[in-house]
Amino acid sequence: MPASDLVNLSGLMDDAKCFALVRQHRWPEGVGCPGCGSPSVIRDGCDDTQPHRQRYRCKACASRFDDLTGTVLAGHHQPLRVWVLCLYFMGLNLSNRQIAGELGLAVSDVQAMTEQLRRGLAAKMPAVELTGEVEIDEVYVVAGHKGQPEEVAKRGGSDGAAGWQARRDAARWRKTSRQSLA
Ligand SMILES: [Zn+2]
Repeated sequence: MPASDLVNLSGLMDDAKCFALVRQHRWPEGVGCPGCGSPSVIRDGCDDTQPHRQRYRCKACASRFDDLTGTVLAGHHQPLRVWVLCLYFMGLNLSNRQIAGELGLAVSDVQAMTEQLRRGLAAKMPAVELTGEVEIDEVYVVAGHKGQPEEVAKRGGSDGAAGWQARRDAARWRKTSRQSLA
């Protein structure tokens, strides 16, 4: 029996804190306009159907945007709390099928979500540039496939690198979330 039959985790999530988490993650230095980058931004009410989704207006270029504009979370049917849970489960290395079971979603929907999350939360944000001394956490080298297909799939599988990136994102989110909930 999936755990979701016992506890509906999504129903216990706090929408306000989910949006606060996104804001903290994408704008750690304060809200900036995704169009022109200006920090000269004023709040402009909230989304009509999602009361915790803050809208903004840029005083420099007059463009309007909100918490999710320019992220993979924008324009999707699933509420933000479902995306946050999905990212969390990805960090626990759950399969798409397991995540689908926990969230009560179709596997195909979850597959689409995890693919998008692996490509990066904020698809249109500039790539991070590494400078100075860089430390790599883990490197898996697959020496041979013989007799160990599970190990190969687990460590060097087709989306190994992408999965690693997703786990890093998820870990960072959990860290941020702990800080914001503290
Ligand atoms: Zn602007």
